[in-house]
Amino acid sequence: KPDPINPPTNVSTLCPYCGVGCGLEAVPNAQSATGYKVRGDREHPSSQGMICVKGATILESVDQQRLLYPLWRERLDQPFQRISWDTALDLIVKRMQTVRFTQGADGICMYGSGQFQTEDYYVAQKLLKGCLGTNNFDANSRLCMSSAVAAYINSFGSDGPPCCYDDLELTDCAFLIGTNTAECHPIVFNRLRKHHKFNPKVKLIVIDPRCTPTAEVADLHLAINPGTDIDLLHGMGHLLLKWRLIDAEFIDECTQGFAQYIQVVADYPPETVAARCGITVTDLEKAARYWGHAKAVLSLWSMGINQSSEGTAKARSLINLHLLTGQIGRPGSGPFSLTGQPNAMGGREAGGLSHLLPGYRLVKNPQHRQELEEFWQLPPGQISSMPGRSVWEMIRGLEAGEVGCLWIAATNPAVSLPDLERTKAALLRSSFTIYQDAYFPTETAAYAHLVLPAAQWSEKTGTMTNSERRVTLCPKFREPPGSARPDWEIFAEVGRRLGFADKFNFPDAAAVYAEFVQLTQGRVCDQSGISHQRLQELGPLQWPCGVNASDETAQETKRLYTDFRFLTPNHRAKFALEHSRGLAEPVDLEYPFVLTTGRLYGHWHTQTRTGHIAKITKMHPRPQLEIHPRDAKQLGLKPDDLVEIKSRRGGACLPVLITKAITPGTVFMPMHWGFLWGDNTEVNALTHPEACPISLEPELKACAVQLIPVNQQ
Ligand code: SF4
Repeated sequence: KPDPINPPTNVSTLCPYCGVGCGLEAVPNAQSATGYKVRGDREHPSSQGMICVKGATILESVDQQRLLYPLWRERLDQPFQRISWDTALDLIVKRMQTVRFTQGADGICMYGSGQFQTEDYYVAQKLLKGCLGTNNFDANSRLCMSSAVAAYINSFGSDGPPCCYDDLELTDCAFLIGTNTAECHPIVFNRLRKHHKFNPKVKLIVIDPRCTPTAEVADLHLAINPGTDIDLLHGMGHLLLKWRLIDAEFIDECTQGFAQYIQVVADYPPETVAARCGITVTDLEKAARYWGHAKAVLSLWSMGINQSSEGTAKARSLINLHLLTGQIGRPGSGPFSLTGQPNAMGGREAGGLSHLLPGYRLVKNPQHRQELEEFWQLPPGQISSMPGRSVWEMIRGLEAGEVGCLWIAATNPAVSLPDLERTKAALLRSSFTIYQDAYFPTETAAYAHLVLPAAQWSEKTGTMTNSERRVTLCPKFREPPGSARPDWEIFAEVGRRLGFADKFNFPDAAAVYAEFVQLTQGRVCDQSGISHQRLQELGPLQWPCGVNASDETAQETKRLYTDFRFLTPNHRAKFALEHSRGLAEPVDLEYPFVLTTGRLYGHWHTQTRTGHIAKITKMHPRPQLEIHPRDAKQLGLKPDDLVEIKSRRGGACLPVLITKAITPGTVFMPMHWGFLWGDNTEVNALTHPEACPISLEPELKACAVQLIPVNQQ
């Protein structure tokens, strides 16, 4: 209810859905059940007042199916019982102490989320990696951006997307590969689309096996066969070299590995590449020519590149083309990964993957560990030198009985992990699973012993960083329901009860952020010019952001590498030299179709929010399997006929959507439906966990399937 003494005012905040990071303005509204309505924040530099259907309807979901109190059950076949926070926290502490004593700290695992605010991430790292001494913290960014992280680190010497959204309006040639930007990052696409529409010389190239709404407006759409991205990119490199459309001075002064790169791409002549990719030589040449003749080339990529057993090599092969043509560090140019989640970027900054430490540090680097130990005032050697378990290694750990305490927060792995039958069987084996979330029930809650209610967007204060390195403050403007608490407060309370009271005495989220910021000083993700107060006063700020010594103003940075000095030891960017390996699970006679997976415009992840929003469920009432008319005819399928889809791991059953948008031999299924939303419609029942050996990101984008029309069974 509105407070009559302090009536609510407009609040500037951030959309908590995707990594575009659009600014929202929450406006008091007495007619609304939540007391507010939202609109795009015109002052936010990233989105300039634009929002998509998800941001516009966010308030409709915030009070639906909320988890209000901690719940507990000893065994999964028992009903949950309400317990107090005190009892819940004691249960966690007792369990963690037992596991540390019997199995060691590595028996404890936490699986978090890009929905966390940076403050949540940071306190979790301090608890797990610092105080407990295990690096077993992973986040669902492992399924999303870890290949981009590995590519930036291996090519440039550090993580960090080099570009900014203003580059969308400054480029001559936008090269979009493995990203359906129009549906998955709509406001980024709006900005690019306007620029393309009103500047006829600007070229838009889209590489995607599907003719998505993004591809529909492209000057050139290459519908390559799934798994042939590296062939295409090396084939373009081959042509650019042949035509001498390269920047020899940049290559000479700023890169390493060029001589070997020439040898690699020699194996990718146009005829061979065109045949492998399923495109014409003319189109391949056109793509290379558009790139080679442009003054500024901006490439965008997302899950179609990252979610692959060669995800790092794919992203690096794309970066190779930028190095070959000197297309980086200048307005309108550079490789630009689009982040899936609202704060996957903040997670990377806070060290929120099992091989990372806060401030873009690495577990494997002894100096980085020492810096952290000194800062956190821990004994030397306290931080383990072993990278922790990635999420799939946590699943394998459960199978082997090596995980005694699994803590899952703000994510829904019982829908989103690959090979769901195996995932669920592993979760069933867990002897102690904590599930911390705003919503209940969810598919993962069904596998939990202890359930903790978390405060969410609008109910807690914290920061998030979007894809262009811009940090936005998300203030609390509504009370959380029941006894829900911010994630970082829960982690800090467990830390205090475990005996680390002096490490977790944060009075508020601003103090957490201020401590984290000290760890970014002098690092590429420097945020020393940013604080909650400054964000409140100045609005969102883009890192690296230091402080001007003379007038103490914040010094934002639009682009990285404008001096063409990279963060490798010799300051040269590295050409990647990997060859194409293709799909981890190629088609064969038994499983003759490639299943590719992805998002729909309106839904978000596993529908914990969007599944409750009428406008969105009306837009996407059910999942469908997209299939080309030629394949449908061969199988005798008519529109809406049910088809059973089977892979080596499991199956699903969906009505078909017959469309020329998909290439023959490939079918598409959306990722949003878990078992709470329908029977037999889970895409990850089919996918496999084969992952990129460097980033450990699973190949969620492709697996081999067979199709059996239900009416013919
Ligand atoms: Fe939110 Fe992403 Fe839509 Fe922007 S584009 S309103 S951040 S879901």
